[in-house]
Amino acid sequence: MFGSSGIRGIVNEEVTPELALKVGKACGSLYKKVVIGNDPRTSSLMIKNALVAGLLSCGADVVDIGLVSTPTVAYSAKKYDIGIMITASHNPSEYNGIKIFNRDGSGISLKEAGRIEEIIRENKEKHVRWNEIGGYKNEDAIEEHINGIFADMEGIENKMKVVVDCSNGSTSNITPYLLRKMGCMVITLNAQPDGYFPAHDPEPVEENLHQLKNICRAENAMGIAHDCDGDRMVVVDKNGNLIENDKLIVVFAKYINARNIVIPVDSSMMIDDYVDARITRTRVGDIFISEMLKKIKGDFGAETSGTWIFPSFSYCPDGIYAAAKFIKMADEMDVFEEVKKLPSYPIKRGSVKADKNKIKEAMPKIEEEMKKMDFVNWIETDGLRAEMEDAWILIRPSGTEPKIRITVEAKERRRVEKLWNDVLKMVRRCLK
Ligand code: MG
Repeated sequence: MFGSSGIRGIVNEEVTPELALKVGKACGSLYKKVVIGNDPRTSSLMIKNALVAGLLSCGADVVDIGLVSTPTVAYSAKKYDIGIMITASHNPSEYNGIKIFNRDGSGISLKEAGRIEEIIRENKEKHVRWNEIGGYKNEDAIEEHINGIFADMEGIENKMKVVVDCSNGSTSNITPYLLRKMGCMVITLNAQPDGYFPAHDPEPVEENLHQLKNICRAENAMGIAHDCDGDRMVVVDKNGNLIENDKLIVVFAKYINARNIVIPVDSSMMIDDYVDARITRTRVGDIFISEMLKKIKGDFGAETSGTWIFPSFSYCPDGIYAAAKFIKMADEMDVFEEVKKLPSYPIKRGSVKADKNKIKEAMPKIEEEMKKMDFVNWIETDGLRAEMEDAWILIRPSGTEPKIRITVEAKERRRVEKLWNDVLKMVRRCLK
């Protein structure tokens, strides 16, 4: 039921009001004070209301903070037992999901999720009597989140023009206001929450950022884009180029003088070459990054997809905090010049669609094929990563969608192309 990003699936097929009710009852049986929020998807209120009914029926008090970003729920969670967010993050309109946060802002572990699943599976919900049903109220949490970030950041010296693409998601009510408060001149883009995502799918990747790039060029402004729920943040320069997140990882790590960083297995080997810090690689998924950061007392975590974790503030990947941090950094130094100094090792990322059972059957065959290759290091923390002297390959089933993700990186272009073609053919063969 729970994956690395909580519960996620197609609405009214996998993610139903019935399921939400069960999750609500299970959470209400375990926790007594719950804060809940939602993104603007067409199904979010349906899922949230079912979940709230479950919580109340098992005696939990619920504070509903309404349409908010995921990091806002995570930030608010410190005053409650848990925070629950209704969102499918960057997935298209037909998806929705449930993500649960600890008080420290990290997503709950798979073990904690297992406790919730067990209650559901074994019908162990603790319904309460009529006079013990939980209380429900609405509250605003956005201002507190803004003030919390601002207190850490304060204003900027130089006037900066910034275009913010909110992807019609729930950062519309926070990032533009925060950056204005810091002293930026903000131009908003797709900042009306709309679950149909009329502008583009709410994933901040190259093919969805044409509008932002054009406006950045036209306005001679830098750009920031979020996914639907705001745990991701990416940057576009004044020439309309999307900054590679792996390069931003290096620049952020240097700026905050990070000594002990955590990144996922699909991140570039360029980071190892240019960051002078201890680097730990984990499974892909922010909960694993947070878990490792806590375990090794790390001071910075990030993912290639554009999630940024600054443990001094929160263990939640907070795209809004990251946006403010980026602005602060751009105020103090020429960030884009720093980015230019870093090489781009050619990298290819892609995926092959297949149903989940097919993928399960294919993975051992893929492993066998990969082990025939000439590798020097083998990592199995998440999927299969074979490292060679000048390249690496990662093949792993997606945690949220029915596809196998493939990443190939090498120091030379021709090597990547060759490896990519070989690997793609091999994966397709194994899926047959
Ligand atoms: Mg997200």
